[in-house]
Amino acid sequence: AKGRGRGVFSHFEPGMDEAAAARRELEMDMRTGLSEGQFELHYQPLVDVRSRRTVAYEALVRWRHPTRGMVMPDLFIPLAEDTGLVVPLGDWVIRRACQELARWPGHLRIAVNLSPAQLRSAGLISTVMQAIAENGIAPDRLELEITENVLLKDNAVHAALLHKLRGLGVRVALDDFGTGYSSLNYLRAFPFDKIKIDRCFLKGLGESDETLPIVRAVIALAHAMGMTTTAEGVENEHQMRVLLAEGCDQAQGYLFSRALPAADFPELRRQSPVD
Ligand code: C2E
Ligand code: CA
Ligand code: CA
Ligand code: CA
Repeated sequence: AKGRGRGVFSHFEPGMDEAAAARRELEMDMRTGLSEGQFELHYQPLVDVRSRRTVAYEALVRWRHPTRGMVMPDLFIPLAEDTGLVVPLGDWVIRRACQELARWPGHLRIAVNLSPAQLRSAGLISTVMQAIAENGIAPDRLELEITENVLLKDNAVHAALLHKLRGLGVRVALDDFGTGYSSLNYLRAFPFDKIKIDRCFLKGLGESDETLPIVRAVIALAHAMGMTTTAEGVENEHQMRVLLAEGCDQAQGYLFSRALPAADFPELRRQSPVD
């Protein structure tokens, strides 16, 4: 591998072609997958920290690939983002999630992830409006999660979009808080209902006190600004003890459940349309 320049280069080029070919193949596969219904949603509960009752489920997309098996979103969402395929995929996720929600008990909410390309796409507002109307769901049962990094560019455009979404009555959450380039200014500029504290701040919480000041401050800040908080990546009771003491509203993580098909949650089992 440490050969002369020419040798390295001649080995490098075919490698690039292969990578590009693999991407093109994956892209074509995704198009087929979308038209053939290979994508599905799994759901992870968000529980109220005090009562430990489930209050919402986050929809997380999976790709049931005919030969590769179950493919996780980290493997195809970035590519889908680059190729623009994430817009039709994301629209499908919104519609599917709202269809699903219509069958759930009325006290439950659903959370859906929005990608940067979806936020830039012209059709987002009408997709959300239609999905709500067609399924007859109360708009405030739909929560849209947006990663903070997305908001870097086009501040004014994004602020207007978020105001429009909230104008529809849906809720907007700031996802992965603390991992990106967000400044406190974001919280002033954008109208969020909720902050989701990234799981990196939950690591070791309750065992060492390294991240406790951050978690405490984020919860206090959110509450002072009229927002609620969800802690992500909660895996043990140490973390829950701290979250309860600090007044965090909701928790999500493997302690309660990983993401599973709706049929695996008794309270989500299909109810007859009349009832
Ligand atoms: P995210 O929105 O931050 O979702 C949480 C991720 O953390 C999920 O991974 C979930 O399974 C995982 N997780 C949950 N609890 C724990 C825990 O206690 N410990 C650990 N270590 N991990 C936990 P998943 O399902 O692989 O999703 C990864 C990312 O893919 C999501 O991160 C989200 O950014 C993206 N994604 C998933 N579905 C969609 C979608 O429909 N649209 C878009 N645009 N992005 C999606
Ligand atoms: Ca999320
Ligand atoms: Ca997250
Ligand atoms: Ca994430």
